[in-house]
Amino acid sequence: MTLNRRAFLGSSMVTAAGLAAPMVLADGHGKPRVVVVGGGAGGATAARYIAKDSKGAVDVTLIEPSRTYYTCFFSNLYLGGFRDMDDLGHSYGGLAANGVNVVHDWAVAVDRDAKTVSLAGGAVLPYDKLILSPGIDFVEGAVPGWDVSAQNAMPHAYKAGSQTELLKAQLNAMPEGGTFVMVAPPNPYRCPPGPYERISMVAHHLKANNPTAKIIVADPKEKFSKMALFQEGWANHYEGMVDWIGADFGGDNVSVDPAAMTVSIDGEVTKADVCNVIPAMKAGRIAELAGVTDGNWAPVNAADMSSKADPDVHVLGDASQQGDMPKSGFSANSQAKVCANAVRGALTGSKVFPAKFSNTCWSLIATEDGVKVGASYEATPEKIAKVDGFISATGETAELRKATFQESEGWYSGITADMFG
Ligand SMILES: Cc1cc2nc3c(=O)[nH]c(=O)nc-3n(C[C@H](O)[C@H](O)[C@H](O)COP(=O)(O)OP(=O)(O)OC[C@H]3O[C@@H](n4cnc5c(N)ncnc54)[C@H](O)[C@@H]3O)c2cc1C
Repeated sequence: MTLNRRAFLGSSMVTAAGLAAPMVLADGHGKPRVVVVGGGAGGATAARYIAKDSKGAVDVTLIEPSRTYYTCFFSNLYLGGFRDMDDLGHSYGGLAANGVNVVHDWAVAVDRDAKTVSLAGGAVLPYDKLILSPGIDFVEGAVPGWDVSAQNAMPHAYKAGSQTELLKAQLNAMPEGGTFVMVAPPNPYRCPPGPYERISMVAHHLKANNPTAKIIVADPKEKFSKMALFQEGWANHYEGMVDWIGADFGGDNVSVDPAAMTVSIDGEVTKADVCNVIPAMKAGRIAELAGVTDGNWAPVNAADMSSKADPDVHVLGDASQQGDMPKSGFSANSQAKVCANAVRGALTGSKVFPAKFSNTCWSLIATEDGVKVGASYEATPEKIAKVDGFISATGETAELRKATFQESEGWYSGITADMFG
């Protein structure tokens, strides 16, 4: 049976869990084709699982410009001196060995009527199912005075790689007693505890190398993820070093001057030696070009991560607007497995299991002082909905914090193997 596009749209009211027969049989052109855009946490996982589990029955092509993916997860540990940059890099050889056709290029356009993706190099790739996992881009003008042309003076280091190395070099070069300023992002953004783990790791580095240096955080929010845990940790390990200025005290009224290296917080101008600007975020641009965004993010159906604008396009990870899950690598990986299962089912008729998701976000505050927050989730007709959760407590023993840190190390090895093979 081959369904045309209109028939497929009509039958997409059936829940993913209820699919029994293949919905798309390659439209009469041989093997069904899946194109995945973005080889990060979501895209690499989805590509790998569809190729591996379909055992050659589905053609999977992954489009990713970088030859090495540097994880944002654990990149703060590199800033703190707990990891080398090489530890964060992952190649795509494992995916290729799993049968994924890896194309190092940029996707520059999506034609949803013709069902094709155009690449910067000129190729045009047809698909039966398209999976977009392009991560984030920044909202223009979010921090007055800052744009990407200023990212060398004031790095974001919110896409890992050269930006992370630059921030570390700037940290190393800070003068004695200098000032590190972070401009934190508004909700929603990639990795809710990420900026605060970063502050912890910067403080750890400065305490050892430049103990009279100061850290200022200008934050547009009134509270943040694991706030009590971070504030307890900063008081215990880095007393007097971190000055967090929330929205109540003008942290939401910030502009920067990258040429002068100054930051204005509620009208008060501070000279910065290092300024880490993390602007407001939106879905990676290709999601917008594909016409699947509504505002800054791409709304999806929780059962299979399909776009609300098009059942043959799925959006994973940070770019998606899915409900209760935080924008994390763990979330993207979890969503990718649900999506892979649903896409394979739709293309080959294989069994589709009900969607279940999980996430844990670990943060390192100081040597072996790890904390965590996490939850499990299920698909409802409206969204990915939180079922239950857990969080580290303030005042935990050093042994428990060490065990939490060791758990995070095991997680990193496991999840990167799950993504990249
Ligand atoms: C400092 C920091 C710490 C973090 N710590 C954690 C943590 O401890 N645990 C955790 O779970 N998460 C953590 N995260 C969050 C995690 O990194 C992201 O949530 C995750 O990477 C999202 O996966 P993704 O697939 O949506 O995007 P990404 O992993 O960013 O992948 C997107 C990929 O798409 C590619 N791409 C973009 N546009 C195109 C295009 N047009 N054509 C082709 N390719 C394209 C990019 O090159 C990129 O490789 C952290 C993030 C930061 C910044």
